Formats: sequence, structure tokens, C-alpha cells
Amino acid sequence: MKKIGVLTSGGDAPGMNAAVRAVVRKAIYHELEVYGVYNGYEGLMEGNIKKMELGSVGDIIQRGGTVLYSARSEEFKTDEGQQKAIEQMKKIGLEGLIVIGGDGSFRGAAKLTEKGFPCIGVPGTIDNDIPGTDYTIGFDTALNTIVDAVDKIRDTATSHERTYVIEVMGRDAGDLALWAGLANGAESVIIPEKQESFESVVAKLERGQERGKKHSIIILAEGVGNGVEYGKKIEEETKMETRVTVLGHIQRGGSPSGYDRVLASRLGAKAVDLLMEGVGGRMVGVQNNLVVDHDIIEILNTKHKVNMNMYELSNQLSI
Ligand code: ADP
Repeated sequence: MKKIGVLTSGGDAPGMNAAVRAVVRKAIYHELEVYGVYNGYEGLMEGNIKKMELGSVGDIIQRGGTVLYSARSEEFKTDEGQQKAIEQMKKIGLEGLIVIGGDGSFRGAAKLTEKGFPCIGVPGTIDNDIPGTDYTIGFDTALNTIVDAVDKIRDTATSHERTYVIEVMGRDAGDLALWAGLANGAESVIIPEKQESFESVVAKLERGQERGKKHSIIILAEGVGNGVEYGKKIEEETKMETRVTVLGHIQRGGSPSGYDRVLASRLGAKAVDLLMEGVGGRMVGVQNNLVVDHDIIEILNTKHKVNMNMYELSNQLSI
């Protein structure tokens, strides 16, 4: 392969820029031509594609968001949309494409590969909901953003002797909530994969109050439901003053952590290696600190699992 493309798609995640940088620099290092596709699959169908040089990715390793922008496209889900995208790539002479995004984006990459255009998926999402990799790019940064926010909320929770319900992102996965719960010493973590009963959460809060606890923090994953309603129920049941914070999109922004930058660099480079070998239809990941790759369809047919040992530990430490 002599000419490859790279795009970012779906929800943005801190570290996507570091991955784009790694793809571009690694490709140029191996004397490939590399093209940036703007606005995800939408831009791919429109031919919004520009040649990247070494300098195109200068000064972006530390930036959140994605310099290639991201978009969601319904049209691309159709055969015609995918055909349109392939024609645009053929016009320029691209032979392979690296897709940085979440599982929706990987479905698109799998479809293009099926149609004869080799693609490699790089997991970029704060949700950590992709099997075949221990971490996705952006997860560590988002976790640290949550940890920092909860520390601040804890200060005011203590001053006012309140219970706080903090809703965090993660779509259908509980990873962000679970990790944040452990890192912040939350009283309860409510995740979609294993719902602690409402009675048990209430009993824990009441035990804490009897012991003279000044505050309680409950971390609720967005996949479980609405934090505001959950907070109301808690207040009605316990009669303790309860406030709710929905952290929202601050979790998706900000400068990527050192870990995410390194992960993005390793995975972006591996994606280029695979395309150079003429391989498509794979996703890259990191497992036990080794860079690995898997069949993308197999990954899409596997259900992501949260680490239940960590969930147990979180319960044991918050008695
Ligand atoms: P993420 O990649 O973060 O999971 P989405 O689920 O929104 O984000 O997917 C991003 C884009 O990937 C969609 O807007 C769509 O263009 C493309 N995509 C999603 N699912 C499919 C599919 N089944 N077939 C083809 N393309 C898809």
C-alpha cells in the first residue's frame, strides 16, 4: 500500500489527535502518502479529503477533540452511501483507511472492508466499551476528569452534610462509573451490568449516617437511567438532603492524559503496520500492555464486559 486515509468518527474522545498524529507520522516514516478525511464518514462520501504532511499534525498531541472533526451519518449506513465513499477514495487512489472511533464507526469500517476496501479500527471512545482492548483511547482522561470533579463536589458535600448523586457517561457500559467509584471512594456505584438494589443503597446511606458520616457520594452510570430521578427517590426515601450533578460533556473534553497519548501513539502506529502488510478488517487494542489486533467482526459480535472483580472490590471498600 502506498496511499492510505485516516478519519475520526462518532463521539470524540481526548487522544484522538494523538492517534491521528501517530498514523500520519508513522505512514510518512514508511514513505506512504497519507490523507486526512474531515467530518468522519460524512466527509468521506463528500470527498472532503486532504493530503497530510508532517507539519499537518504538529502541535496537536496535547489537544482534546479531533482536528479532523467528527460527524454522524445516516446515509453512510446504506449500501449506496458506502459505495459513494469507496468511489471517493478510489478517485484519489487510496488503498486503505484507518477509522478512529467507537463500535458504530467500526461497523462502518467492517462494511467497507466487506466491500473490498481494507479498513483498520482504532478504539477511540471515553466509554471503554470495546472488547479486545483493556482500554480505549480517551477513557483514562475522562476518568481523571470525573475524579477531579467528584473531589470538588465532595468538599461541598462535606460542608453541607449532603448526599450527592453524580451521573457519569459511559453509554451502556459501567466502566467509567466503576473506576470513578473506586478512585473517589464512593458509597455506591450503580452500573447497568449489575444493579445494586435501591433498598441496599438506602440501607448503606442510613448506616453511614448512623456512623456520623458527613456526606455520601453515589456514582450512577448514564446507562442505568436518569440521575435526577434517582436523586429524588433517594431524598424521598432517606429524608437526607440530596443533590444531583450530571457531569455531561466536560467528560469528553480536555487535554489527553499521558496514558492516553501513549496508547493513541501505539495503536495509531500499529494500524499503519497492518495496512502496510495488506491486512484489513482488524481492530487494534492493548491487552496486558501488549499491542494486539483482532478480527473486527468478531469484536463487533462480542459483548463488552465490565470487570466484576472490581465491582466486588468497590462494594467491599465502601461498607
Ligand atoms: P461511535 O463510533 O462512537 O460508536 P456512532 O454509533 O454514532 O458512534 O457511529 C458513528 C458513525 O458510524 C455513524 O454515524 C454511521 O455513519 C457509522 N455507522 C454506525 N453504524 C453503522 C452500520 N451498522 N453500518 C455502517 N455504518 C455505521
